[in-house]
Amino acid sequence: METTVKVKMKLADKYQSGFPLIMKDALVNAEVLTKEGQHLNVVDEQGTYIGKGYYGLQNKGVGWVLTNKQGENIDQSLFDRKIVKALGLRRKYFDDPNTTAFRVFNGEGDGIGGVTIDYFAGFYVIHWYSEGIYQFKDEVVQTLKTQTDYRGIYEKKRFATNGKYLDDDDFITGERGEFPLIVKENGVNVAVYLNEGAMVGVFMDQREVRQAIRDRYAEGRTVLNTFSYTGAFSVFAAMGGATKTTNVDLANRSLPKTIEQFSINGLDYEAQDIIVDDVFKFFKFAGRKQHKYEMVILDPPSFARSKKMTFSAAKDYTNLLKEAIAITESNGLIIASTNHAGVSRKKFRTFIDKAFKETGLGYNIVEEFSLPDDYRVTSTYPDGDYLKVLFIKLV
Ligand code: SAH
Repeated sequence: METTVKVKMKLADKYQSGFPLIMKDALVNAEVLTKEGQHLNVVDEQGTYIGKGYYGLQNKGVGWVLTNKQGENIDQSLFDRKIVKALGLRRKYFDDPNTTAFRVFNGEGDGIGGVTIDYFAGFYVIHWYSEGIYQFKDEVVQTLKTQTDYRGIYEKKRFATNGKYLDDDDFITGERGEFPLIVKENGVNVAVYLNEGAMVGVFMDQREVRQAIRDRYAEGRTVLNTFSYTGAFSVFAAMGGATKTTNVDLANRSLPKTIEQFSINGLDYEAQDIIVDDVFKFFKFAGRKQHKYEMVILDPPSFARSKKMTFSAAKDYTNLLKEAIAITESNGLIIASTNHAGVSRKKFRTFIDKAFKETGLGYNIVEEFSLPDDYRVTSTYPDGDYLKVLFIKLV
């Protein structure tokens, strides 16, 4: 059973050329969307075929077009084709013993919006971003079972059911892993937990940034890592010869998790500072003590709320940078990152420019990163490239 949705005439060309996100405002008859997972036949107002998709509610839209080909249907063979192609495109990662954790399927970038699949040393983790795409669970799992040598398959439901987010056991099939599972990233050990909710211990989209820090920037520097989570940036900095790292994160879990990441690499965690505190409180403390760092890493969440304050990358990044500039050595380096899709690369640069203007200092951007190629992006949906990381040298 398929439901026909009609795209407004003025947007028909955009959808005809492959734009995959179904936006509610783009439809003339959005009222026919009643049950997530509904198969959609997408046409323009005159009934000309655009593609096939499904209804699934995410922040950004109400579903995704999965094919523009006449006669192609949303069935097992479509999932097989798209996922097998994606697996093939990650061959160089599967073949690299030094990196055993990477993304094998990146939503619309690989042709199916609303779902991602990550690989961790034989284990696959599926993230479902809507109740709608979750209706295709059997197909996706079936493809992984028949097309991969999986040890085990886990899932994360990143949507609410009856208003409630489930963070229960995420195991689907195969072998249950033993956690921490130790994976490798460019030769460095990383501990992951696939059974503890959506955050498994590492954000793999920052792989190239960590590598650059280790190989080209850390040597002989003192490092402040804010919003440090498990301290992954610091471990790479220490491996690259940083003299000391200071890690600051509000979450209690960050202390044992950072100790663990250092320890599994044979690094002395007692030689590091691991601080559980609000970053903004820490900035004040460091300012009072006149502590300064040669490298400051800023990787905040897009939104955060603590007891005392809220942070929004779109509104508060300039201020965050000014706080960071104040405690960076005069020839130091700030690594500024945001994964907020609502902050464009251009906008992010204006935040940086404003922060430096207001502090009266000069800067050079020495290196810039976006998503690594396992986080595939399609040219028909460039907004999928959400990661912006700039290496900023103070002058
Ligand atoms: N940079 C990390 C990922 C950061 S995830 C990495 O490379 O792995 C975002 C982190 O910010 C979470 O661990 C969260 O606990 C922390 N956080 C959120 N608000 C904070 C605040 N005000 N002060 C300190 N940490 C904060």
